[in-house]
Amino acid sequence: MDAVALLFIVLLAILLGWALSVALSRGRTIERLQEATGATDADDVEKRVRTALEDAEDARWNAEQANHDAGYLTELLTAGVVRLRDDLTVEFANGAAHVMLERRPGSMVGRSALEAFVDVRIEAIARVAMESGSANGEVTVRSSAGATVTVRARRSPVSGVWLVLEDVSELRRLQRIRTEFIDNLSHELRTPLTTISLLAETAARDAESASPRLRDRISKIEVETGHLTQMVNELLDLSRIESGTAQLLLDDVDLVRVARSTAERLRMFAERQGLRIELDLPDRVSPVRGDEDRLGQVLVNLIHNAVKFSPDGGEIVVGVRQEANEIRVWVRDPGIGVPRADLARIFERFYKVDRARVRGRGGTGLGLSIARHVVESHGGRIWAESEEGSGSTFALTVPLAPQDSVAGQPEGAQPEPDERVRGGA
Ligand code: ADP
Repeated sequence: MDAVALLFIVLLAILLGWALSVALSRGRTIERLQEATGATDADDVEKRVRTALEDAEDARWNAEQANHDAGYLTELLTAGVVRLRDDLTVEFANGAAHVMLERRPGSMVGRSALEAFVDVRIEAIARVAMESGSANGEVTVRSSAGATVTVRARRSPVSGVWLVLEDVSELRRLQRIRTEFIDNLSHELRTPLTTISLLAETAARDAESASPRLRDRISKIEVETGHLTQMVNELLDLSRIESGTAQLLLDDVDLVRVARSTAERLRMFAERQGLRIELDLPDRVSPVRGDEDRLGQVLVNLIHNAVKFSPDGGEIVVGVRQEANEIRVWVRDPGIGVPRADLARIFERFYKVDRARVRGRGGTGLGLSIARHVVESHGGRIWAESEEGSGSTFALTVPLAPQDSVAGQPEGAQPEPDERVRGGA
């Protein structure tokens, strides 16, 4: 009997202890919640916890709806949208992506990128984006139509990678047609132009004793034929560069040498207009990997423009400087400048700032666009800084040949071109 009573007492004590600890811990929890929420008492805590739970439920519902909405929106897009997980398996792909790649609806989800796209290049673009944050590319996908697709990949801030695929087949087809048209047209125009030019030259010789009026007219024919020939040649150049048929003949190029020799070639032309050409060149820079003739042609265009658009009697500066991973070349003139609104557009083909302000100095409007193509095909950049009425600086950069790309800045580094209004190409 005593043993039973003892056992009963022990059990009672354990029970009481447990109840006490639960009460204490509940009390502590309530205290903590009161502290955290600023509630006044236990009832208030309960009310606030309930509200918080309701808010969390609302947030979950909203997130679900937003997710739903985003899915619905992507189905409206004509661009393909694909989300890859960290292991590059497809987590989501909209209808357009399936259509573009000619896959059964929904069949891409769950597959690896390689299986889904059947294209190592798209997988490679996704992999680069996963590592570096973003990557772009253009591929011809394996489908019956062989569509040309641009792929833009961005790493998601949460996880995985987003890919946006755009079918640009029609755009590329039209660009090809335009290039072929310009190419054919320029070829057709070249032959009669050469004949007219020769005839004008002969007529000018034959008309030595003719009236000044006739001689003047013949000379105008010669000048205009010259302009037309230049335009046709530049058009041909541009279409070849744009279509990629103009191959770059790559070599190690010393841009100081190119700048010096180009400036010398144009010195006479500048002096005829009362302009001096000053050189601002270091003794030596590391070579760039490029096509010397094409890069020379860019500098001819820039210096030629500097002369064309400057008043008589000023100074044009041609400069070169080595930077960490690239060579910078610039041409500064004291000329009429480029209005702010036109700065970004002067690199477009045929774009010319208000034709009236340079009457008699007409060009084709193609020089800068060729220059931009050449510089970009070397992996560089070209831009203009200018203020209307007080000159311009046209600058370009070309990356150093790979083995020199970590070279430091040599002694005697040249100053920055004027930091003024900047227009990008
Ligand atoms: P073009 O010189 O044959 O007209 P470009 O493509 O070389 O064609 O230049 C496009 C336009 O940019 C020029 O018509 C001119 O309006 C403007 N431009 C180019 N270089 C200069 C310069 N150094 N100063 C002022 N304007 C310039």
